[in-house]
Amino acid sequence: MSTSAKKREPIPRNGIEIIDPYVPGKSEATGGTKTYKLSSNETPLGPSPKAVAAFQAAAGTLEMYPDGASTRLRQAIGQRFGLDPNRIVCGTGSDELLHLLATAYIGPGDEGIFTEHGFLVYKIAILAAGGMPVIADEKDFTANVDNILALVTPRTRVIFIANPNNPTGTYLPFEEVKRLHAALPPTVLLVLDGAYAEYVRRNDYSAGIDLVSNNENVVMTRTFSKIHGLASLRIGWCYAPARVCDVLNRIRGPFNVSGPAIEAGIAAINDTNHVETSADHNEKWLTILTDEIRAMGLKVTPSAANFVLIHFPNEKGRTSTDADTFLSSNGVVLRAVSSYGIPDGLRMTVGTEEANRLTLDLLRQFVAR
Ligand SMILES: *Cc1c(COP(=O)(O)O)cnc(C)c1O
Repeated sequence: MSTSAKKREPIPRNGIEIIDPYVPGKSEATGGTKTYKLSSNETPLGPSPKAVAAFQAAAGTLEMYPDGASTRLRQAIGQRFGLDPNRIVCGTGSDELLHLLATAYIGPGDEGIFTEHGFLVYKIAILAAGGMPVIADEKDFTANVDNILALVTPRTRVIFIANPNNPTGTYLPFEEVKRLHAALPPTVLLVLDGAYAEYVRRNDYSAGIDLVSNNENVVMTRTFSKIHGLASLRIGWCYAPARVCDVLNRIRGPFNVSGPAIEAGIAAINDTNHVETSADHNEKWLTILTDEIRAMGLKVTPSAANFVLIHFPNEKGRTSTDADTFLSSNGVVLRAVSSYGIPDGLRMTVGTEEANRLTLDLLRQFVAR
């Protein structure tokens, strides 16, 4: 029986208790001499040394509240991307911003749309806001604009799209994003989650800055957790219409980004060399991993991000679960993605050369046994 039926204790709002809590990627291997964690899309190159130094320097003033508006961080981001800092809001990770957007724009009876294998935080945020999650089918593990549009009703408030998406790695070309936006009523907010935008090297891709600049109903969210290597600090930001920024600033925590996070974030965004080195490493290994794993006879969904989705056969001893067990017993932790509706898949984050080569060797052994 649900706790709310008992009426002998505080009762959460409708929808809260049907939320499946987010389960992060595992951190521990079951064997091996060393653990290679390739389960949470963390960068193998770590943060910029300048960001680490800035974080350490901030340790001297921990008794002080930070600047609640993250002014210098927004200025640094604005300068880096040519954006008006007044149209940037920083958050405790982009997860906070996704939740705030849902809270602000979705209420009971309202609908939020995301796609079949979309990032699980969207569903949690919609339900937590009291709304109804509406799920659009994908095609070839890729968001499909026509399927999304077919689900838009007068109750639709927000559409969340990760571009590229986690855990599939697939992306929508900018023409498709624009086609989607053009067909939406002006009252529907389109949220483009660009957590992996820095990794994408495709001519037909855009994280959506122009679309945000020229419209009142598009938001782009970004994070310092992936290419900047600051996942532990919890820093995200969004570029949004002035009116949306005003709304988010009314409901966010007044000091939602910590002082050390602000300082490290500024140093990270300014270290463009480090970002480029990280993107180069990723591009090189994304190709090698995709090609070599395919050569073993396994299917790999084409990825534009910093991970690959590997599919395993549905045969006893050869399934994704068997592979997960085998890899983990040899020190390599990948991400099972059945919670994303992909029971045959394991998601592998691009790691260091050492981690990548070990994983390829182990996968070869697994396939051959
Ligand atoms: C990792 C990830 C994020 C980042 O979340 P943070 O809260 O900024 O760490 C956002 N969206 C997607 C799709 C992700 O995979």
